[in-house]
Amino acid sequence: MDHSTRSTVTTTMIPATAAVIAVAMVLFTLASGASANGAEDDSITPPPAEWTEAKRGAVEWIDANASQLRQINRKVWEYAEPGMLEYRSADYLAGLLADRGFEVERGVAGMPTAFTARYGSGEPVIGILAEYDALGGLSQKAIAQKSPRIAGGAGHGCGHSLFAAGSIGAALAVADAMDEDRVEGSVVLYGTPNEEGVLGKAYMARDGIFDELDACLHWHPADRNEVPTGETGNDLSSFAVAFYGQTAHSASAPWKGLSALDAVELMGVMSNYYREHLHPSARIHYVILEGGKAPNVVPDFAKAWFFLRGASREMVDEMYERHRKIAEAAALATGTRYEMRLYTAINHLRDNHIASTLMHANLQLIGPPHFSEAEHDFARAIQREVGIEAEGLPTEIEPLRPSKSRDLRTYIGFGSTDVAEVSLITPTVGLLVGSFVKGSPGHHWANVACAGSSIGEKGMIVAAKALAATALDMMEQPDTMSAMQAEFEETTGGQAYRSPIPADVEPPILPNPYESPDWTPGDLDYPTWGSFNWED
Ligand SMILES: [Zn+2]
Repeated sequence: MDHSTRSTVTTTMIPATAAVIAVAMVLFTLASGASANGAEDDSITPPPAEWTEAKRGAVEWIDANASQLRQINRKVWEYAEPGMLEYRSADYLAGLLADRGFEVERGVAGMPTAFTARYGSGEPVIGILAEYDALGGLSQKAIAQKSPRIAGGAGHGCGHSLFAAGSIGAALAVADAMDEDRVEGSVVLYGTPNEEGVLGKAYMARDGIFDELDACLHWHPADRNEVPTGETGNDLSSFAVAFYGQTAHSASAPWKGLSALDAVELMGVMSNYYREHLHPSARIHYVILEGGKAPNVVPDFAKAWFFLRGASREMVDEMYERHRKIAEAAALATGTRYEMRLYTAINHLRDNHIASTLMHANLQLIGPPHFSEAEHDFARAIQREVGIEAEGLPTEIEPLRPSKSRDLRTYIGFGSTDVAEVSLITPTVGLLVGSFVKGSPGHHWANVACAGSSIGEKGMIVAAKALAATALDMMEQPDTMSAMQAEFEETTGGQAYRSPIPADVEPPILPNPYESPDWTPGDLDYPTWGSFNWED
C-alpha cells in the first residue's frame, strides 16, 4: 500500500469551517518536512479546541453520572473474564445500554459475547469501541502489593474494564446530547470481545459490522496521556496446529508408535531456523498446548499455538504459507497427520490524522487526569514493588506527533491490535489516558490494581469526556468529516477493506462457563479459548 505524503489532504480540504484543522494540517506538513531532514522529535501543537454547548453538556453529564461509570468499571473488573468468556460482562453492558434506550443486537459476527448498541437514526454515524476481556493468571486486589483476589483467576491487566466504562460513558453522554437536541446523528457502541486474542473486531470487520460508520473512536488506559498517530503495531496471524500419530509402549514397542510430539518439536525447530531469514520486524512466538500425557506412552496427539507478526500483511501472509509447509514437512518426517486452524488475522493500525488532531485538541481542552498526592504515593509504592523508577503517575499531555508512514526496511513493530481492521474501514482515532503507573510493565498485576482504584477511574472519566467531545465535534463539523474522509481515501488508496480471514473460517468461540453447575472462578483462565476440542 502506498503511504506517500499526506500533504495533498491539506489542498483538498474545504477551508470554511475546517480552518482550525487546516492550520493544524499545515503545521503537520511542515513538521513532517522537518522530520525528513533528520529531526526525530517533531511535534505539532494544534490550536486549542473551542467549548461548544454540546460539549459542555456532555462533560456536565459525565460529571453528574461519574459514580455510575465507576460502578460499570468496578463490575467488569470484578467479573474479570478472559476473551470469549465475557458472558457476564457482555450481558451487563448490553443490558444497561438497552435500558437506556439503545437498540441492542447481541451475538454479532457469530460471537455470543459481541454486541452493537445504537442510539439515533441520523447522520453522521459515529462508532465508539468498547473492550472488556481480562487476562488469565492476573487476578489481583486493588492494593500496591501482588495479592490475587482469586487464586488462579483472571484480572484486568490491560485495563479493559476501564475501556468499557469510559466508552459507554461517552456513548451515553452523546445520546444525552441528542435527546437535548444539541446534535444530530447516530452513535453506535461496539462491544468487541477478545481483544487479547486480537480477534473480536477482526471477525466483526470481516462480517461488515463496521461498514455503516462515518468515523470511529477508541481509547486505551495507559501510563501516559497521548493521542497516538501514524501507522502502529504489527500485522498478525494466529493459528493452532495439531498433529495426529499413534500410541505405543515407549519402551517395549516404540517402533509401532508415531509421535505427534516429535512433529510439534520438529515444527518448532524448522520455524526457528526460518527466523534467521526474516525481516527484523518479524516476530514468531509459540507455545505447546498439548504434548502427550506420560513419557511411557508415545503421544498420538500434540498441538501448538503460533503468533506470526510483521510490518506488512504481505510479510505475514508469506510467513503463514511457509508455516503451512513447515507443518507438512513435520508431518511427513514423523508419519503423522496435521491440521492447521487459523484463529485470527489482522492488518496494522492507521490513524486518521485530522481526527487525531481533533481528539488531541479536545484532550487539551479537558485536561489530563488530576491525581492526588495519595494516588501518586500508591503509584510509587507499586513502582518500588515492581522494581521500576518511583515517579508516580503521568501528569502531562504528550505532544501530537506527525503521522509518519512506516519504512518497511527499518520498522520494528511491537504488539498488534484488532482496532487496525476498523481503521481500514472508516476514519479511526484513538486516545491513551493515564490510568496506570508511569513505566507500567504492561500486562501485569500493577495494572489490575490501578484499574480497580480511583487512579484508573480518573483516567476513565477523562477518556469518556474526550471521546464524547470529539464525537460531538464530528457531528457538528461536516467539513471536518469530509476532510477526514478525503484523508482516509488517500491512506487506503481508495481500496475497499478486505479481511485477511477467509470467509469460511469461524471464530473460535467458547461455551458459556456459567451453564456448568460446577464452574469455579479459577476456570476463567487464559488461554482456555485456545484449547477447544479438535475434530469435533
Ligand atoms: Zn488492551
